[in-house]
Amino acid sequence: NTDLERAQTLITSIPDYPQPGVNFRDISPLIADGPALRAVTEALIAPFEGQFDIVGGLEARGFLFAGTIAAMTGVGILPIRKAGKLPRPAAAVSYSLEYGTATIEGPDVLKKGERVLLVDDILATGGTLSAAQALVRELGAEVVGSAVVLELKDLRGRSLTGDVHTVFAD
Ligand code: 5GP
Repeated sequence: NTDLERAQTLITSIPDYPQPGVNFRDISPLIADGPALRAVTEALIAPFEGQFDIVGGLEARGFLFAGTIAAMTGVGILPIRKAGKLPRPAAAVSYSLEYGTATIEGPDVLKKGERVLLVDDILATGGTLSAAQALVRELGAEVVGSAVVLELKDLRGRSLTGDVHTVFAD
């Protein structure tokens, strides 16, 4: 699949962003390319086709892929948001960062037992995605899978998240 192979080359490494020593992966060139975006979207959902009722996107870049997945499959979107953005959050989960903590929140839109596919752009330490998994369960639904565009393997995010479907790994 040449569009998928090209998609990987479109992820750009930006050294020392947002702070010295961090090698930030910028997906902007990938999402700017229509065939690459479509190929990545198809690869994200391939193992889960017919197995999810709604796609949960993690703010902010996870929203982009939740949107393309929803449009391509006909499911709806669960926005998993950073704290303080939802008018009436139904559940919240906090997790640790290198310095301090962060909190994510979700709206009251899930039916009991609904099957959620979680999606984000990058799996780094796994803190964000594992918190999202806990949030979905707190909302009374089931996580059928977690999918990311790129896994940064050295950071061992899977120790927190369990199995994750990854399109690319670095
Ligand atoms: P984690 O919680 O796994 O350490 O970090 C993952 C979250 O931070 C994801 O929501 C992801 O969007 C963001 N993130 C961490 N590192 C990068 C990176 O190098 N590039 C991009 N685009 N996002 C990152």
